[in-house]
Amino acid sequence: MAITISRDKSARGLLKEVQEISGVDLSQCYQCKKCTSGCPVSSLARCSPSEMMRRLHLGLGEELLASDILWMCVSCETCSTRCPMGIDVAAVMDALRKLAVRRGAAKGEGNVPLFNRAFLKTVQVFGRTYDLAMIAGYKLGSGKLLADTEKFPTMLRKRKIALLPPHGADRQAVRRIFKKTREDGAAQ
Ligand code: SF4
Ligand code: SF4
Repeated sequence: MAITISRDKSARGLLKEVQEISGVDLSQCYQCKKCTSGCPVSSLARCSPSEMMRRLHLGLGEELLASDILWMCVSCETCSTRCPMGIDVAAVMDALRKLAVRRGAAKGEGNVPLFNRAFLKTVQVFGRTYDLAMIAGYKLGSGKLLADTEKFPTMLRKRKIALLPPHGADRQAVRRIFKKTREDGAAQ
């Protein structure tokens, strides 16, 4: 893996911020790549988890916030579980995502940040995920109102999607979690 870092792009500031948010000491990483070999999306992304760790540690800056793996990562935490140094790689991914959103650098392919927002909004409003509202939010945001609509009847017939919102969730409790998360984020 060849990594080129120009002096003007070197940004120890990003490393410091990620370490503060995630509580992870990246200097412990010795590039064994166990995180990458277990990651279900690393073969699809342009930059693997171990490469992200290396690039961050070497001083790459804001360009890391536009990495596709941030929005392909499914937060399965396999990387954190496999790391022989006990490094919470998933927490590093989370911290990078948070900074990417905060700085408007989120450039996930296929509108993944928009999908994330639509998903979280339905959880916030209904207490659980509500596919129909999520699809509507995503389609409105992306402007692709008619894309994939031909699959809708089949999904309904096979009961893969519910017309009515979910019930039984403690919506107040879920809203409190969102409120607390926002407050914690603002305090950082
Ligand atoms: S598994 Fe841990 S030590 Fe190995 S490359 Fe990944 S983060 Fe670094
Ligand atoms: S948490 Fe993300 S980066 Fe880590 S193994 Fe899972 S998908 Fe890969």
